[in-house]
Amino acid sequence: FDVSCAPILDQNERLRGIVVVFHDITELKKLEKMRKDFVANVSHELKTPVTSVIGFTETLLDGAMEEPELQDKFLNIILSESKRLQTLISELLELSKIEQEHFEIKWEHVQMTELLDDTIMVLTEKAGEKGITLTDSTKEAGIALGDPQRIRQIMINLITNAISYTSAGGKIQTEIKNMGDGVKLIVSDTGIGIEPNQIPRIFERFYRVDKARSRNLGGTGLGLAIVKHLVEAHGGRIDVASKPGEGTTFEITFKKPIA
Ligand code: ADP
Repeated sequence: FDVSCAPILDQNERLRGIVVVFHDITELKKLEKMRKDFVANVSHELKTPVTSVIGFTETLLDGAMEEPELQDKFLNIILSESKRLQTLISELLELSKIEQEHFEIKWEHVQMTELLDDTIMVLTEKAGEKGITLTDSTKEAGIALGDPQRIRQIMINLITNAISYTSAGGKIQTEIKNMGDGVKLIVSDTGIGIEPNQIPRIFERFYRVDKARSRNLGGTGLGLAIVKHLVEAHGGRIDVASKPGEGTTFEITFKKPIA
């Protein structure tokens, strides 16, 4: 609590009472802590790859360059850590843009079935390389209200995650479905799944169920935070169903244009 006091005086400046105001700042403190945690997380996430780029470059300059095998290995690490930094920076900028108060959706009628088809075309190769089949089982055209570029981003993030957290031989299925109250985008995988108590946390910035695993897969822990913000900006809803060891289904419901 934040406490402030003020005396109540009468005409003769005599003390008649005291006003004490208790201001509940729990929410403010919570926000402040979240901001501090976020800054600490960002610094840590940025420092890790930078430290490794500097370290490996110094080792190369100190003589490792003479050994072709080491040189190759170290240069590859430097390249992948630099790419990691690049992804991290662009996702951070993206998140900060969509978290701004005046972030606005450019409302359009979005052909969801076509948009999903286009997105799948881009990601089929990536799934194939991992030995995963990516299929779409949409049977109807669906029109949602929203920003096609942003909805595409939601599709990419969800399908990319499905590819990341599914092993070779697994399957990913997508679908656009018309519902009474909106249009649904469904992304379902036969991957590692998520423990029920972890589900509410996966939308937090930088939260990862298994940090090392996500990092090895090139994850930043920001993808679902971006999805959550974008879905909220669309006035939509996210449902997650998952069974550890069996798979996960994300369902996003978007608004439909008024008929
Ligand atoms: P990351 O960059 O780590 O993938 P995200 O914000 O996209 O970050 O996701 C947060 C965490 O949620 C992931 O690290 C992972 O633990 C979990 N997760 C997301 N999608 C899936 C999925 N389809 N199957 C299993 N776990 C998932």
